[in-house]
Amino acid sequence: MNTSNLLRACEILGDKTPMLTDCGLLCGAACCQPDEDGQGGVYLFPGERELLAKCDWGWVQSADFAPMLRCDGPCDRARRPLGCRIFPLTPVRGKNGKWTVRMDVRARAMCPLTASGIGGLDPAFVRAARDALRIIAEDPEGESFLEKWHALEEEYRKPLW
Ligand code: SF4
Ligand code: SF4
Repeated sequence: MNTSNLLRACEILGDKTPMLTDCGLLCGAACCQPDEDGQGGVYLFPGERELLAKCDWGWVQSADFAPMLRCDGPCDRARRPLGCRIFPLTPVRGKNGKWTVRMDVRARAMCPLTASGIGGLDPAFVRAARDALRIIAEDPEGESFLEKWHALEEEYRKPLW
């Protein structure tokens, strides 16, 4: 994928966070912690593996869906992956066919912000996440990755029985 799209998308989100205050204080930064099995991490967008190959706060592991960054300490925030920057949001196509965002169903297990829905998040963060994903979608490989990411998230919305 065109690295400039990726960097532009990351830059749009910059220091924006879901809340104006540090939401990590609400939950002990749950989205940065491994789960009870010591698993967990963040899927990397196309091109991020190369950018994060030498990061000193974690390591990149191959996974079926996409490479995954697993962290064992606080990151350099300026280099955190796009998946971290948009969390707890996820891409979805709006009725007009354009990419937008919704609350990621997978965040429910750990993120206290999911209880109040997308309307409870800082609107500037929501807009930046949406705009960042539209920049990713300008690149064919980026758009295909958004489709895959969305399809995976949809799987978690299906009832278990
Ligand atoms: S889990 Fe949710 S509330 Fe906690 S740090 Fe992550 S985004 Fe913020
Ligand atoms: S890269 Fe940073 S924000 Fe993302 S999971 Fe690791 S420590 Fe958390």
